[in-house]
Amino acid sequence: MKAIVVKPGTKGFELKDYDLREKLGDHQVMIKTLYNGICGTDRGIVSSKLSFSRPQDGFSELILGHEAIGMVKEVGDNVVSFRKGDYVVPIVRRGCGECLNCKVGRSDFCETGKFVEAGIRGKNGFMREEFVDDEAYLVKVPEAIKDIGVLTEPLSNVVKAIDELFQVQRRMIWNCEDGAYSCRNAFVIGTGPIGIFFSLMLKTFGFNVYLLNRRDPSPKEEYISRKINATFINTSKGLSDLPKVDVIADTSGFPSAFIPLLNKMNKNSALILFGTQSGDKTQIDADLITFFVENNIALFGSVNANKLDFKEAINYLTMWKEKYGDALSSMITTRVKPEEASKILLEKPSGEIKSVIEW
Ligand SMILES: [Zn+2]
Repeated sequence: MKAIVVKPGTKGFELKDYDLREKLGDHQVMIKTLYNGICGTDRGIVSSKLSFSRPQDGFSELILGHEAIGMVKEVGDNVVSFRKGDYVVPIVRRGCGECLNCKVGRSDFCETGKFVEAGIRGKNGFMREEFVDDEAYLVKVPEAIKDIGVLTEPLSNVVKAIDELFQVQRRMIWNCEDGAYSCRNAFVIGTGPIGIFFSLMLKTFGFNVYLLNRRDPSPKEEYISRKINATFINTSKGLSDLPKVDVIADTSGFPSAFIPLLNKMNKNSALILFGTQSGDKTQIDADLITFFVENNIALFGSVNANKLDFKEAINYLTMWKEKYGDALSSMITTRVKPEEASKILLEKPSGEIKSVIEW
């Protein structure tokens, strides 16, 4: 079996034959991989910048890959939810088995930190010709979205963050007079796949969405923002055109990108931190803290997703494909074979929204 393998802590990767001799258990499913998505986490591991990446216990190397879609090849004797030929997406994080959140399937809120994540830390990932996984960690993908199903993860993480947003904002009446959110503005900072998914989610609830970047949109970004009726703003040309805002979702991880926007925040608004970076040393002062306190502004970070978020992500993809047509599939900007993986793992292709490996 061919697999893309890394040695966490050292730079680079290798495509090689890698026989794990996985046996199919009674509650397990064997999956032929169709596509893997590539994200900053994969590139962070390959460039040895993610210090928390580690191999599975008993291994010296890690099979990379946490975004995947595959087709069921074979099912174990006691598998009830899947059959041969089904399209499936695997869940990334597996719980610690100790804390209450993990015991009830909410490993995205693991309290011990002893979870593992496929292709990232402590568990072999999905960048390989085939893999065996427990039925419980798979979600079914309708054939109608098999072309974009590889986007389920990352979208699942955004579904979780938006769910948290509404849970937090339930602290008061936040909807508009019509019961929806058409009187509310949202800034989404960063226009990668996560930024586009935040925009799509917020549009779905009726928000007026502004997609923010420090540059003009690429032709693809311009096409997608027009199609979903979101306003693309180049913030390097100034912020004066921007209205007051009710929710900011930062996907950039750069404080210098979102701190200048905070004085646009309305009373009772919310700031979602989703992106991660290092190096940006922007400072905050006591006046900003006062502003947050005096205006009931909520701030929360969000990471990962649970099984229900994956299932919801699949529902959203199905609905959006119907509504927005090729705007979704056009998010997949680069497809390469495993032999050409260096073109997308070692560098970011120009104009990239999402790059995938096709097995
Ligand atoms: Zn846990």
